[in-house]
Amino acid sequence: MEFDLISRYFKEPFADLVQSRGESVLAGIGDDCAALKPTLNHTLYISTDTLVEGVHFFSDDSAHGVGWKSLACNLSDLAACGATPLGFTLNLSLPSVDENWLSGFSGGLLDLAAQENCPLVGGDTTSAGSNTAKTISITVFGQAPAGHNGFHRAHALAGDEVWVSGTPGLARLGLLLQYQRVGQLAACCKQSELMRVEQLLAALPDHLKQRALNALQQPVTRIRLGQQLHGLANACVDLSDGLGGDIGHIANSSGLMANLSVLEIQAMWLEYWPELARSPDALELLGTLVSTTLQGGDDFELCWVAKPAHHNAIQSIEPRPRRIGTLQQGEGVWLSREKAGPERWLEQSYNHFAEPRL
Ligand code: ADP
Ligand code: MG
Repeated sequence: MEFDLISRYFKEPFADLVQSRGESVLAGIGDDCAALKPTLNHTLYISTDTLVEGVHFFSDDSAHGVGWKSLACNLSDLAACGATPLGFTLNLSLPSVDENWLSGFSGGLLDLAAQENCPLVGGDTTSAGSNTAKTISITVFGQAPAGHNGFHRAHALAGDEVWVSGTPGLARLGLLLQYQRVGQLAACCKQSELMRVEQLLAALPDHLKQRALNALQQPVTRIRLGQQLHGLANACVDLSDGLGGDIGHIANSSGLMANLSVLEIQAMWLEYWPELARSPDALELLGTLVSTTLQGGDDFELCWVAKPAHHNAIQSIEPRPRRIGTLQQGEGVWLSREKAGPERWLEQSYNHFAEPRL
């Protein structure tokens, strides 16, 4: 039974992808161990992430979306290190065998795995016993040339510019919309923010709502960008817990302060929502969007720092990244506004043990 399931949903659908990577996958599903062969003079990069039903995804989320996202959050760690995928393993703990779900889940995994050329090479499938939640644990293996610096968090330098890809905060907007849909918005944001968040969600144009839900359910992966940043970025992180906290990791590890420009973060939103500039509530709505970006969660965009000498090279990358601040001597994360001096950002980013269960 178990072997049948593994074969139907994981071995067969991924067979072509595994075969096409024959030079690096020496053994895959069906053997006691997978055997991966990195290219000569390359370093191995490994990352693992677990998703728990009710914590990282809603029980009624599409199985396809859950499959995609489980791999996306792992691939984004490889992207943040500038690594290229070699393959991944999948550990599943399931309360029951739901073939409909398994089929959708496997399809979502395969769509992204094929797009990023990342074969499934092994795993484990167990019963969750009396636990009612599904647990999905993925480990990705990647490689980068041995001379690459790995974009370690502690490698940032004073004077570096801070850059981001995409629109960090979109996924959190998507999450707020989801909470609103199930009538639990109050559980997801602080009491003091609730009215402003409701005002924002009511004003959001439909196209931005759709973008936000897509960002939450089918996040992009930035493997290609991570490779393009070789030789340009000093340090890089993927935005999984929110821009404020994640840039804070680079600043703290490097003994520096991050100074972010509120105007630049606002400009990022105005690009998608230009009519907002003419709204009588523009200032307030933009303020809520800036908080959404800083608190973030689940964006999987990249945030990196690089010497100003690389400014033009970075700006010529497509889709165009945005420079949102600088690193300076000092500590913590600070926000600069147009006329006022910088003000320290003290809010918390996403904390698994503080958020309510879905
Ligand atoms: P073993 O008892 O040797 O650990 P298993 O019965 O757990 O073997 O698994 C049989 C084969 O199927 C192994 O090659 C394992 O890597 C693979 N496998 C099991 N579960 C999964 C899964 N969820 N995804 C991919 N491969 C899996
Ligand atoms: Mg096993």
